[in-house]
Amino acid sequence: MGLISNIITFVKGTESKKNIAEVEDMLLGSGLSPSLAFSISKALQRSFIGASKRDDILRTVRETLQPLVVPYTLQPLQPDTLHVLFLLGVNGVGKTSTVAKIAYMLAKNKTITKQSMLFCASDTFRTAAVEQLSVHADALDIDIYKGTRGQDPSAVIYASLEHAKKEKKTLVLIDSAGRMNTRKDLMQQLEKNYRIIQKHVKVEELETFVVVDGNSGLNTINQAKDFNTLFPVHAMICAKYDGGGSGGAIPNIYEACSIPCAFLGTGEGYQDLMAFERERFLDEFLS
Ligand code: GDP
Repeated sequence: MGLISNIITFVKGTESKKNIAEVEDMLLGSGLSPSLAFSISKALQRSFIGASKRDDILRTVRETLQPLVVPYTLQPLQPDTLHVLFLLGVNGVGKTSTVAKIAYMLAKNKTITKQSMLFCASDTFRTAAVEQLSVHADALDIDIYKGTRGQDPSAVIYASLEHAKKEKKTLVLIDSAGRMNTRKDLMQQLEKNYRIIQKHVKVEELETFVVVDGNSGLNTINQAKDFNTLFPVHAMICAKYDGGGSGGAIPNIYEACSIPCAFLGTGEGYQDLMAFERERFLDEFLS
């Protein structure tokens, strides 16, 4: 049974506090943060305890969530202007795969040619990460700039942007080193990466994305918050949306730090990336 059907079963014909607590638990169980679960159950309590009208209950929950479910669209690319997409996130969330998926999507819908893109593999601490991006670059026929093992990631980013300018690329997609958001020194390195990028491109030509694993529950809130304190994060990308998580990360993160959502990762293939759509998401979340 879906979230709303569950709530209706409990709200129907009762005004007890116990049942409101149960509604709150259901909202928590659907992946929403405690503060969101609380505000939605309060809104329901105010209006509908004792009522059993499915549509009214659905509307109340939807209206509460709607302002927190915000799509983000990539900035248009300008010819002859270098543009950077900088992807952040803790290890294993899906950054490298998402770099490849975005490039695939942009080439497929003819936003940009493959020749005008460059991958930058700046995770010089993990050979596997660089190798993985190289595999994607080969498969998609996109140029890649990679550093040597142990090299300062900022130096790799600097050199990749110089290279991109020389080669007249329009878009550089940077796969950053997977960072624990709780490690201050590592986070400071990301801040340095950001400063280096800003030396090469205007602020409006740089977009930063935090990639989160849609199945990681409430951890994703702190990840997004911590990255967003380093420098402004433009949008989140919710990877592994196909993994059974509810997508609760999307309203949770917006509530915590006003970061909208650009894409959903829906599988391991290059085609498994969807532009985020508000109404479609709400339909699925509330079904
Ligand atoms: P990174 O360490 O953040 O760069 O993460 P990776 O891109 O290497 O992804 C880690 C694993 O998650 C890989 O096995 C990917 O194939 C897988 N993965 C990434 N995105 C998705 C997704 O949207 N759905 C599924 N099912 N798997 C994904």
